[in-house]
Amino acid sequence: MDSKRYTDISEILTQYLEKKKMRKTEERFMILRCICSFPSHFDISELSQKLEEIKFHVSLATLYNTLDIFEDSHIVVRHQSIQSTLYELKILAETHQHLICTKCGAIRDLKNVSLKQNIENLKIPRFNAEYYALYIYGICSKCKYKLSRKKQI
Ligand SMILES: [Zn+2]
Ligand SMILES: [Zn+2]
Repeated sequence: MDSKRYTDISEILTQYLEKKKMRKTEERFMILRCICSFPSHFDISELSQKLEEIKFHVSLATLYNTLDIFEDSHIVVRHQSIQSTLYELKILAETHQHLICTKCGAIRDLKNVSLKQNIENLKIPRFNAEYYALYIYGICSKCKYKLSRKKQI
C-alpha cells in the first residue's frame, strides 16, 4: 500500500470532516486506507471484499454513504457507465482519460500525455476549473469481436 498517498489524502478527509462538523470515525479512515490500496478503478463489491479480507465489517449502506462523502470532498471520482459504477481516487483519475464501452460498460484507462497537458493548459475565461474527467465512448475490442462473429453466422 502507498502509505504516503494515504497520509496526504487522509489529511484532506480530516479537514473536510472538521469543516462539515462530521465525526472522524475509524470506519471512514479505514475505508479510505483500503481505497488507497487500489491501483486503479474499483467497484463497491471489490471494496467490500477487500475490507472483508482484513476482517473489517461494514454494511453496504455505510460504504455507499462513505463513498458519497469521499466524492463530495473530491477524494474520489465516480465513473458511471451503462452497467457499472466504478470509483477511483481523484489523483489517479487525473493522470489518464477513460474509454467506456457502450455495449458492455467496460471502463479502461487511456494514457495520452498530450491530451492531459492540453486540458491542464486550458485557459477558461470566467471559470475556475477544479478537476476534470474525460470519457471517450465506443465499442471495446471484445464486443467488436462478438459483433463480428454474430454477423458471420
Ligand atoms: Zn481511471
Ligand atoms: Zn465492450
